[in-house]
Amino acid sequence: MKKNKDRETQSAAETGRCAPVGMVKRFLELWTSGPAFKAEVLKDPQGTMHHYGLDVDPEDIRALWDWDYAAKAVAENLPVTPTVKQYREFINEKLRWRELVREECSPAEHRFKTWRDRQIKRNMLEIGVDQDSKMIHTPVAFELAYGCSMKCWFCALNAPPLQAVYEYTPENRNLFRAILAILKDVAGPSAKWGCSYWATEPLDNPNYEKFCMDFYDILGIYPQTTTADPMRDPARLRKILADSRARGCLVNRFSIMTLQILERVHREFTPDELQWVELILQNAEADPVKAVSGRFTERNRTNPKLAEREKAKVLAAIKEQNKNFKGDLSTINVNLPGTTSCMTGFRINMVKKTVELASPCNACEKWPNGYIVFESGTFNTAEDFKSLVDGMVERVMLTTVPADRRLRLGRVLKYSHVPNGFQVASISRGVQVANEASADMIRMIGDLIRDGQNTACEIALLCFYQLGVPTEVTMGAINHLFENGMLDEEPDNQHTEKAGQAGR
Ligand code: SF4
Repeated sequence: MKKNKDRETQSAAETGRCAPVGMVKRFLELWTSGPAFKAEVLKDPQGTMHHYGLDVDPEDIRALWDWDYAAKAVAENLPVTPTVKQYREFINEKLRWRELVREECSPAEHRFKTWRDRQIKRNMLEIGVDQDSKMIHTPVAFELAYGCSMKCWFCALNAPPLQAVYEYTPENRNLFRAILAILKDVAGPSAKWGCSYWATEPLDNPNYEKFCMDFYDILGIYPQTTTADPMRDPARLRKILADSRARGCLVNRFSIMTLQILERVHREFTPDELQWVELILQNAEADPVKAVSGRFTERNRTNPKLAEREKAKVLAAIKEQNKNFKGDLSTINVNLPGTTSCMTGFRINMVKKTVELASPCNACEKWPNGYIVFESGTFNTAEDFKSLVDGMVERVMLTTVPADRRLRLGRVLKYSHVPNGFQVASISRGVQVANEASADMIRMIGDLIRDGQNTACEIALLCFYQLGVPTEVTMGAINHLFENGMLDEEPDNQHTEKAGQAGR
């Protein structure tokens, strides 16, 4: 496709024409949906726009899809078209919204807040700051069904097939509302950012909307909806979108499984209707990559080409964005995302009446679905629920390291010495702990924690007898590592008497 800077400049400076945000968003959804649309645009831009019913000039928004042009525009300070400017403002508004939600997800309860902050730091260390920044770490997620009807082959949470939904009986409604009130008490205002699905498809529950209205009634906002079946009942979905917008929820999401479904969604819903609905492209050809977690991991064992295909997408994007790089980009070691989880808090299944206290991690043998379960339990009544959740707060959400806890490094961290201290590193990130004035103490604490044989109290005593460091100074240093998510606090390392009561 011929680049035409003059035309873009004219569009911006002279005509002032501005394509609607929803229309630009639709173009970009198609652009990232796979190679076919890209090829069509490059071959016949106007014909392709006509074919897809897109009232947007690709030249006008070149800065949004052509990496070379975008880099050149920055380097040469080329004028930004009104359409591009308006679209970037829209994206910035969404980013500000996500940041606000992430901040407001921080619970009021001191222990819950401290624990969540620590898990976020642990997660940043494990999966990297960039990926973590996209997670809101919601404090609560409800499942209003047991299992999911969609049976996606790549399901990162490994949801079982749909087995039952939570009926909207008077008793169930009362229990649900009582639980919402308890969570409001435990998590404070942050509970309102909870979501009403997890390893479930929200539309599987025919009374999903009624539960959402209860959620709104108690917590003051309609919970966000992500559906993987947007064409199941468009009229129902339209009503959910309208109700949710009217009750404070800005962004909802549709997962798109195939190009055919994308086409049907685009035919059914106007660009304006979908402006605030994120389309998560899950079709095989799409640019976004899948997480190696849950069922994807299982499938990849028998068909390793699946991960190779996802890695090839990442490499292609890197090459596209670094065309002037002289080295061999093919040798880059690509790490695919290892989780889709974005909750650091309570996962509540209303059908099974279970609670899991969980937080994201890269999927692994121990945590195959991309999240750590710190403790789990069951309940029958609201009173049970309260005592279970209160117990988890007390047992798991510690604010300091217990003196009798055996200390070891986080499961994924590699330890090495650096001048005046040590470094811990995962495949994504490394952090150094070093200080010239207290290098001996730091190194001794680091080595002992790496060995994993001593309690906090024993380490403090060893530092006292061997280095003359006051025990409170050592405990302060240990708590600094704890606060920064470097110490293992997974269930098999919760070295307290009370932890034995978990998992009823
Ligand atoms: S990915 Fe989502 S929609 Fe698909 S099976 Fe898993 S929970 Fe259900």
